[in-house]
Amino acid sequence: MSSHPNNEPILGYEPRSDEKEALLRELNRQMEEVIEIPCIINGEKIYTNNTVTQVIPHNHSHVLANVHLAGKNEIEKACQSAINAQNDWIELGMDRRAAIFEKCAELLAGKWRMKINAATMLNQSKTAFQAEIDAACELIDFWNFNAFYAREFHDQYQPLVSPEGNINTTEIRPLEGFILAVTPFNFTSIAANLPSAPAMVGCTALWKPSRNSYHSNYLLMELMMEAGLPPGVINFIPGSGSEITETCLSNPDFAGLHFTGSTAVFQGIWQRIAESLPNLRSYPRIVGETGGKDFVVAHPDCDQRGLLVALLRGAFEYQGQKCSAASRAYVPKTVWEGMGNDLVSEIEKIKMGDATDFSNFMTAVIDERAFSKIKGYINRASENSDCKIITGGKCDNETGWFIEPTIILTENPNSETMVEEIFGPVLTIYVYEDNDFEEVLDLCDKASPYALTGSIFSSNEENIQKAYNKLRFTAGNFYINDKPTGAVVAQQPFGGARASGTNDKAGGPLNLLRWISPRSVKRNNLKIHDWEYPFMGEN
Ligand code: NAD
Repeated sequence: MSSHPNNEPILGYEPRSDEKEALLRELNRQMEEVIEIPCIINGEKIYTNNTVTQVIPHNHSHVLANVHLAGKNEIEKACQSAINAQNDWIELGMDRRAAIFEKCAELLAGKWRMKINAATMLNQSKTAFQAEIDAACELIDFWNFNAFYAREFHDQYQPLVSPEGNINTTEIRPLEGFILAVTPFNFTSIAANLPSAPAMVGCTALWKPSRNSYHSNYLLMELMMEAGLPPGVINFIPGSGSEITETCLSNPDFAGLHFTGSTAVFQGIWQRIAESLPNLRSYPRIVGETGGKDFVVAHPDCDQRGLLVALLRGAFEYQGQKCSAASRAYVPKTVWEGMGNDLVSEIEKIKMGDATDFSNFMTAVIDERAFSKIKGYINRASENSDCKIITGGKCDNETGWFIEPTIILTENPNSETMVEEIFGPVLTIYVYEDNDFEEVLDLCDKASPYALTGSIFSSNEENIQKAYNKLRFTAGNFYINDKPTGAVVAQQPFGGARASGTNDKAGGPLNLLRWISPRSVKRNNLKIHDWEYPFMGEN
């Protein structure tokens, strides 16, 4: 094995640092312009003049861009362009394909870093730190590590045996046809990774970005083209999800779906794929990472301050809009008596506001739809006699879509906000009797259909092992004495099972293998001229 890449170092953006000054300059520059975002099909920019605006969630009267949406004609063209590009892309070979994505990583680590971070802060309302760990570091890591894994495949998957006279090999062949990448708003890195991971191993793709991240996603498309991505390999098509899916599925060369987003949307697309099966040339690969109802279980013997920090960061960073955000916690009575008041008083210190003001820990949620949905959960909890809102709860959508960090204390471990994904800054806590730890592990396992991330807090190995065993299928990413967010590429490959997805671990080799359809090749070097077998000889 050759030596592997390292994780991209995270810049700190401390006061008066060079990176902070550079980022502020870029934020000001982007605030002063309104850009036109086209579709990009076969490397060409197409302005359809059927536009929607892209606004800043924490300042929603500010328009960042006009986005030209793809119609049926452009979607069909994009499918054809991906099909036409595949042969040359395959023949370029794994090594040169990987080198293009390493070049993308280099550009993002260097001259594009502030541009993409600023766009993510404005377009998706992330703080400087949240933008840096997502749009810069995680995406640089996705590209560098995927390039590394892809290069290793040829040697790793060769047949073990080639008898004398034969040479057996395996061609690491991509799927035949194009991949549809349907991407979420909440991670710029995931958005770019979904079309580029299959492309790394020789697939070509349509990239359908989220309507809430067109700006940052478009800039990444430009970055990939600057790095030398050939026309047609990834086609960027902002537009209606259902129209894009329908058009792709009516094309027999649809070869796979790479999805990240909500469970309901993924299930809907999977069902449509099943209906389209008779018209498709291949059985498509379906990879989807979806929702979560991520938990923290504390044992009476846990480090209480550690638990407090994990709950605060895990639940409220990026306004709880991480699939891995802590949104339900099971806390023993004595621990709650020891740290509950402190947790509330720390949360009340959180500053929320404009992402360009670096003193803010939180900003706005993504759009009016998310705002109303989260507000609905808070309102229903306030009317539920089992629940009590002990901090936060106020919602204000005048300038931006702001929701206070909110804690709901519940006496019912199956109340709505304990079991459903809210995708906002709302943490529900169920306080249990200290002796009920094992029962609570069962509750945690059964309460929600999701199984994405979760944490156990305990200072005793035996208790940790109990949770480790009982919660085996409750989380695809399991944390011991840490918050359930913040997975790092090549350290904790990410993904969950049950209703949380197909668990193909983005950023790891297992994901890349889903886009491969190997060809086994036997080369015979013997001259076989006799058709009769020895057993047929006369006695
Ligand atoms: P979403 O499901 O609303 O949208 C995801 C994508 O699907 C978007 O591009 C959207 O336009 C598209 N879409 C919506 N309806 C569609 C339809 N009918 N047909 C085809 N495409 C359609 O999700 P979101 O709000 O962008 O992201 C938040 C969700 O994503 C949360 O549920 C979160 O848990 C999940 N998520 C999961 C992971 C993970 O790794 N498990 C990571 C990030 C986000």
